[in-house]
Amino acid sequence: MSGTHAEQTKGRCLCGAVTVTVTGPLGDISACHCGPCTRWSGSVLMGLEIPRDRVVYDGPIKTYASSSFAQRAWCDTCGTAVWFTDTEGDGAACLELAPGLFDGFGGAQLTRVVYADQAPEGVKLAGNLDRVTKADYEAANLHVEDTQ
Ligand SMILES: [Zn+2]
Ligand SMILES: [Zn+2]
Repeated sequence: MSGTHAEQTKGRCLCGAVTVTVTGPLGDISACHCGPCTRWSGSVLMGLEIPRDRVVYDGPIKTYASSSFAQRAWCDTCGTAVWFTDTEGDGAACLELAPGLFDGFGGAQLTRVVYADQAPEGVKLAGNLDRVTKADYEAANLHVEDTQ
């Protein structure tokens, strides 16, 4: 990290018991329409991919291993989604933080949607997004078969 003062962005869960502070830029938001993300988020999961060493968190965080290589975290008091992360591979160095932890999504912008071709018919994200299909995503990344 260069510069004298790295910018910090503070976020929290609905009840306030979990706090998250990111040092440095939040980057862009990506959305995922895969089966597990849809079920877990209740609709469409969005995330800000931040290197773990730039994230400080505190509070009653619970985690669930949603596959052999993925973990999902939430506030044990109010249920707010906190992060998704890979637990192996390149993605393990980052947490995909829930944008809603931060007021106004911290000013971050949605730029990418994966499993774009799996979006429910009535829910297509609009705009000029980098749209990655299930086949293309799975050719390049760890994934679980969507069997549920
Ligand atoms: Zn909470
Ligand atoms: Zn997903």
